[in-house]
This record gives sequence, structure tokens and C-alpha cells, in this order.
Amino acid sequence: MSFIFTKPNRPVSRVFIHCSASDNPEHDNAATMDRLHRERGWSGIGYHLFIRKSALVEDGRDLEKVPAAQGGNNTRTIAICLHGLAVDKFTQEQFDALRDLCDQINRAYQGNVTFHGHCEVANKTCPVFDYRNVLGLDMKGRMPMPMRPMGWVNTTEAAAGTGIGTPDVPIGLVKFGDRGPKVRVLQQELKELGYQPGAIDGIFGKLLRDAVMALQADHDLVTDGKVGPVTAEAIAAQAVRALAPERTAASLLSLAGNGSRIATASVSNGLAGLTLTGGGVLALVNELSGKVDEVNAIAGPLAGILSTHGPLVGGGTIAVGLFVAWQSWRSGSARVQDHRSGKTL
Ligand SMILES: [Zn+2]
Repeated sequence: MSFIFTKPNRPVSRVFIHCSASDNPEHDNAATMDRLHRERGWSGIGYHLFIRKSALVEDGRDLEKVPAAQGGNNTRTIAICLHGLAVDKFTQEQFDALRDLCDQINRAYQGNVTFHGHCEVANKTCPVFDYRNVLGLDMKGRMPMPMRPMGWVNTTEAAAGTGIGTPDVPIGLVKFGDRGPKVRVLQQELKELGYQPGAIDGIFGKLLRDAVMALQADHDLVTDGKVGPVTAEAIAAQAVRALAPERTAASLLSLAGNGSRIATASVSNGLAGLTLTGGGVLALVNELSGKVDEVNAIAGPLAGILSTHGPLVGGGTIAVGLFVAWQSWRSGSARVQDHRSGKTL
């Protein structure tokens, strides 16, 4: 196989397998899938990788971006699509390519990733074929390492699944220029997450679009400023983020040097002696980052955490400030910083 998988920087814990729900030869390529998605107003192909009948593996959506493939289960996933619909029309070469690809992914994550069919999280038959058998998965969706020899699976056996796959049909898209209650709800949600969507007036204007793009940048989504199911999922889930390793060596001074307004204020308030290395503050930041996503969602969890750890750090303001500073540092985007006042510089 010629395709070489490269691990993305965003966190990944699950891989989902799909079928394209079409045997039309004209649809047997990622470019057509991408075009069909764009024609519907979406941000291009939702799958990361597309396997043609010929076994050619094509790039779809950037692996660094969250896919738009499994409603409600897109965060931390990789989405792979095999072209096909009828179970007996998938090719052995496609299955071999899928196994090779999944084996590469499995190795890249040292076995700490599980493999699933779309049907496991949706009322669909997708991907139609018996992917568990093709990949040799155990009950939890783990793939063996090393995998079985190529050619072990035949298409008849693999095609044990029945039924017809249903293509993902987008449900609702809120975008620039829209008006109404959906927009109002979105404005309220973004405001509660600490973004700056402007007035809560039910009109999708430039400020709201910028706020949506800021949120999308924060969540490794395609930054198109439109709210479809994937962005809505990110808003709803407030996905937990991993603490960046560089953060463990940070101090108030270095954060201030990186432009954190809150760190700067803390320094000017004479708190520069407080460093993050190996102390209670780091533990607190760790704990915060494991429990909440956006700083404005801290209020509830913070109260409990501070009642436990508060004395260690001498007050919640510093901890919140550090957390905000970390968020600010991580976002790393001028756009984000421009539109998240109160959270960044
Ligand atoms: Zn699917």
C-alpha cells in the first residue's frame, strides 16, 4: 500500500468506518464527495480518508480537523469512508487497504484507539459490510497488533451485513444572514461560553460569525463561521482538552511575556513569585482543564475545586487567571484573541 498515515496533532481516540452509500462509479473519488458536500452549502467532505474500489486511498478533510461524519460523535475521531453500497460490490482490495490503513493508525497510537462502524452510534446500517471481521476487532473495537496476514478475509464472508446504507443527510445549518430563534439561541450559547457574539437579537451578523470562527478554531473544526451539526456538537459537548506539555514549565512571568493580560496583571500585583512548576497551582490547573472547557463554564466546578485546593494557591483569582492564560496561549490565533475579550489579551 502506498498511503502513509501521519498522526494529527489533535487528540484522537476512535476511528469510524463508513460506506459512501453509492455504487455509482462517478462517485468513486474524494473530489466528487467534496463537491457534493459543498453544493449543499457544507464545508466540504466530512471524511478524512476515502477508499476507492481500486483500493486507492484519497485524502478528504484535513486530519487536523474534526470530521463531519458521525452526528454527536465527531470529536476525537478519524472518519474513513469506503466507496460502495451493495455488500457484495466492495472489493477485496478495498478491505485490504482499510486494514492496512487501520493498522497504521493503530500503530501510530500504540493500540490506544478503537475502531467502530457508523452503525454503532447511529440508527444506520453504515458501513453495511462486516467491518469487525475485516479488521479482526475484539468486543471493544480494538484491532490486534500485529494484524492478521493480508488476504485472510474474503468478500463473501466480509459481506455478511445486510441492508442499505443511508448517506448522512445534514440537518440544519445556521449561517451569516440568518434570522430567528435558532440564531438567538446560538448567540446566547456563545455568550455563555465566553465569546463575543454581539447583541442577542436573533440576527446572524459579522460579530456572531467571528465568534463562531473563534469557537471553531478552539475546537479544531473547519473555521467556516457556519454552525452545522459538528460545530453544534462542539458547543454542546464542551470537549475536554488535554493540558499542553509546554504548560508544565510555564510561570506567571513567561505567560506575561507571551501576552497574557491576566498574567501580566498578576505580575504587576506582586504575585510574580508564584510559579506553576511542580506546585499546587499546576495541580489545580490540571484539574480545571480536566473538568471544564471554556473559562466561563468554570463557575460551578471551580467553586468545588477551590474549596478543596483554594488554600494551596491563596485564592481563586490566580488559578482562574492561569487557566484563562493557558486557554489563550493554546488558541494561538489572532482571530481568536481578537474576539474573546475577557479570556485573552
Ligand atoms: Zn456513515
